[in-house]
Amino acid sequence: MATLINKLAQFKHLTLDEWEELITQKDSINREELYELSEKTRRRYYGNKIFLRGLIEFSNFCKNNCYYCGIRRSNYNVKRYRLSKDEILECCHLGYKLGYRTFVLQSGEDFVYNTDLISDIVSSIKSFYPDCAITLSLGERDKEDYQAWFDSGADRYLLRHETAYFSHYKKLHPKEMSLENRMQCLVNLKKIGYQVGVGFMVGSPYQSPKTLASDMAFIERFNPHMVGIGPFIPHKDTPFRDKTAGSLNDTLFFLSLIRLTIPKVLLPATTALGTIHPLGRELGIKVGANVLMPNLSPKDVRKDYLLYDNKICTGDEAAECINCLSQRMKNINYEIVSERGDSLVNTPNYLSQNFNVKS
Ligand code: SAM
Repeated sequence: MATLINKLAQFKHLTLDEWEELITQKDSINREELYELSEKTRRRYYGNKIFLRGLIEFSNFCKNNCYYCGIRRSNYNVKRYRLSKDEILECCHLGYKLGYRTFVLQSGEDFVYNTDLISDIVSSIKSFYPDCAITLSLGERDKEDYQAWFDSGADRYLLRHETAYFSHYKKLHPKEMSLENRMQCLVNLKKIGYQVGVGFMVGSPYQSPKTLASDMAFIERFNPHMVGIGPFIPHKDTPFRDKTAGSLNDTLFFLSLIRLTIPKVLLPATTALGTIHPLGRELGIKVGANVLMPNLSPKDVRKDYLLYDNKICTGDEAAECINCLSQRMKNINYEIVSERGDSLVNTPNYLSQNFNVKS
């Protein structure tokens, strides 16, 4: 097993079988050594800097019905809300004052925010704050929409692939959704020139070493600028309400593997990780993560953007969040910086590759 970790540490390619072997035998791996390696790798490129992203959850309407997600369209217990352009700009004004230099606009798949409205919001933010990066996370849209938003000034796009294993994808989503479309969106985003983020939930129902090996092999080939992974946490109003949550240890393990696989990747220690363990985000940073995404949404809507149960920080003011996190990072000798924090990952000649999913 140590040989496979050594291979990774030398930035060598692992085959699908090798990934599966490594993941199957995860409990026999010396975690201390692994985490020392992944932390050192992150430090080589990003030092002890932690980048902040101000997360604005601007709509919890969603046309999709993912079995795991608390804001799925069939959850009639959700109080739905939409933020206006002015309300979103207000969040950015406050965020800029607090030191944020990246704004992440995230929502369910809500087509009331059409091509022009998102373009207008993006270009307005850019006109106020040309020194800031804008990340969009709005789900699957046409290539033309992605292009229009890029042309308006959007820099990055987060679209977790959720799982790179065809039959697993079918178990997490209703039949109108497809992995092929998700992959096509990711390829479109990269072709357009976005910094692209992929990702998956650790411990999602029906996940196995085989599906996870596909995730790792996909991530290695796609070479994304960002990877968002966090534990799956059940939500009481979803079909997966009784499923087991992903574990802290497994999430830390995959964070470290991703850092070794793409050394220059931007890797958040997610709110979900902070939800399953009081020091989850600190531990994530210590194994190689380098991004935190505190909430910048207005306080009165935060409790309505619940993807999973017991989400932390839903009652805090934006300023409280940033102060709390700065202190937490200082406690473990890391420093939150007021920078855009662009990815150092280059976009290689990946476009000729084929991402057809066969499993
Ligand atoms: N609609 C956009 C999309 O599909 O990418 C962005 C919003 S979506 C709710 C953001 C992410 O939340 C998903 O990609 C999923 O991985 C994560 N998520 C949803 N439900 C979750 C749960 N129960 N536990 C942990 N993460 C969850």
